[in-house]
Amino acid sequence: MALTEQELEEHKKEVERLNLWVRDLQDGGFVNCVYCGHRYGPSDSTPVALADALKQHVASCTAHPMAGLVTALREIAAGGAGAVETARGALAAAGIAVGTEG
Ligand SMILES: [Zn+2]
Repeated sequence: MALTEQELEEHKKEVERLNLWVRDLQDGGFVNCVYCGHRYGPSDSTPVALADALKQHVASCTAHPMAGLVTALREIAAGGAGAVETARGALAAAGIAVGTEG
């Protein structure tokens, strides 16, 4: 069932509204990495939105599986053969087994 153009526009507006709401909720508060607990907050002099700062952290966090996936993508882009194992290892460290599902 495809969405009509009007329905699609309504969904886009709702996503935009919710994104603004999340940003408002984070203004003046703290955001944390759920894997290592690294915290950004009001006392930081981070010039970017906290959500953006957290995204940058997640891409390099040694405890977050997303950083392993970023490494795997870099390996793929470089033509490396170890990318699949790098991605599996990053996800396995987070308790997510890939390739063993029924
Ligand atoms: Zn982290």
